[in-house]
Amino acid sequence: MLEKYDVIVIGSGPAGYVAAIRAAQLGMSVACIEKWRTPEGKGVNGGTCLNVGCIPSKALLDSSQRYYETKKGLAIHGISASGIAIDIPAMMQRKTKIVSQLTGGIEQLFKVNGVDGLFGTGKLLVGHNVEFTSHEGITAVLKADHVILAAGSLPIEIPVAPVDGRLIVDSTGALDLDSVPKRLGVIGAGVIGLELGSVWGRLGSKVVLLEAMNEFLPIMDSGIAKETHKIFKKQGLDVRLGARVIGTELRADEVHVRYTSADQSEHSEIFDKLIVCVGRKPFTDGLLADGAGIELDSRGAIIVNAQCETNIPRVYAVGDVVRGPMLAHKGSEEGVMVAERIAGHSAQINYEIVPNVIYTHPEVASVGRTEEQVKEAGEPYRVGTFPFAASGRALAANDSDGMVKLIANADTDRILGCHIVGPSAADLVQQVAIAMEFGSSSEDLGMTVFGHPTLSETVHEAALAVNGHAIHKVNRKVR
Ligand code: FAD
Ligand code: AMP
Repeated sequence: MLEKYDVIVIGSGPAGYVAAIRAAQLGMSVACIEKWRTPEGKGVNGGTCLNVGCIPSKALLDSSQRYYETKKGLAIHGISASGIAIDIPAMMQRKTKIVSQLTGGIEQLFKVNGVDGLFGTGKLLVGHNVEFTSHEGITAVLKADHVILAAGSLPIEIPVAPVDGRLIVDSTGALDLDSVPKRLGVIGAGVIGLELGSVWGRLGSKVVLLEAMNEFLPIMDSGIAKETHKIFKKQGLDVRLGARVIGTELRADEVHVRYTSADQSEHSEIFDKLIVCVGRKPFTDGLLADGAGIELDSRGAIIVNAQCETNIPRVYAVGDVVRGPMLAHKGSEEGVMVAERIAGHSAQINYEIVPNVIYTHPEVASVGRTEEQVKEAGEPYRVGTFPFAASGRALAANDSDGMVKLIANADTDRILGCHIVGPSAADLVQQVAIAMEFGSSSEDLGMTVFGHPTLSETVHEAALAVNGHAIHKVNRKVR
């Protein structure tokens, strides 16, 4: 540990650890302070994403999908299997092993890049001093030329469903259940609620999602949201829209939940477990000393400009603790941008092209603007769609629910957005993100040669459909 660093980063989630590594690569002396501890009390890097977010949720989504497919999806291929069982502790152990492998990997990356990883709490003092209190309770004041705040976010709690860790859990608890609940309630049918509901639903829980909004996935393109809702309904997922939870009561081993429906009538349900997934809030508790002078907005997020500069010169904030979508990759790109700008480069982020994924089955993914946003902006546009039901690859895989929707400017043909529900939507949408980053038109995508048979041919056909040239479907007339 030095007395003074070029850069001190507080928080080692995907925003902070990436900023620290990039700053070190650029030749700066860097410390990254992290307060997270494993249940055994050991300091650990990686933040929400690696410890209780993206990675463990995907580990469980993959395990549960394999189980579900083996139980329900083999007969159509002519395969029969019996005695299929799920060992929850083994599934959890696999998840924990992946998490440790990746968090340990950050420690290695810090070592090879020369980042001082410090386990303990960091607090920004007045000026560019940072108080570091190690997990052992030793305090030191470190000086820095630049400070990057990357303190992340926490699950939002609602008074009507206080998390007790036993019957009512948040997303963290939902990644660690020790058995499959028979009846599972989920408050909030947003990204995290849908993913966690899917995990336990595939393993055998009867899942009910209670969602206060009347519309399903209102942040998504409405055409894709409707298609997604239809697919989930067909799968038997019980999503109750307009269902606002107004009270919960713990009785022995059950949670009794009261909610109102859209017509304001009152209903109740009994669950063995209830997961609260009503969103996340920026986390700054203990991060800023009185008088540090950093401005927060009404949500408690640190106010930054497009370059992630706070109101105090040479203090930056990145990731979930600032405005914008709470996504790991958005924070990482901000971390890289800030490190590079500190080094004198002119890095910036194209916030218009940040992919967003829901890892259900099928996946739901989007990039760029929705049709509603384009319409509202008054921009002339054309839409091309293509169903997975017309994809040879999707049919061969018995995975043909969903569609691709591509939106392009009607005058310039420049791609404005792409929205997909279907197999491997996350990876397919990334292809369009790259095209958009290069300023591609739908014609450019249409002229690109796609391998056959691939799922990505659906993107190709949607691009052709924008101008009425799709081959494997009936085209709309294009003026
Ligand atoms: P965090 O990852 O929250 O890290 C912040 C770190 O700062 C923490 O480790 C915290 O301990 C530390 N810290 C805070 N204050 C201090 C302090 N004073 N001193 C020292 N350390 C401090 N995003 C995706 O893009 N894709 C997904 O598939 C995805 N899935 C998710 C699934 C779940 C269940 C959840 C909960 C989230 C998911 N997310 C996903 C969101 C993603 O995890 C976050 O957007 C991402 O972790 C934010 O990164 P961050 O670095 O800003 O903050
Ligand atoms: P997200 O922000 O994507 O994680 O989604 C959280 C969801 O929880 C939002 O769609 C909210 O409408 C929903 N929500 C918040 N409070 C309640 C509540 N009391 N009952 C039901 N749903 C809620």
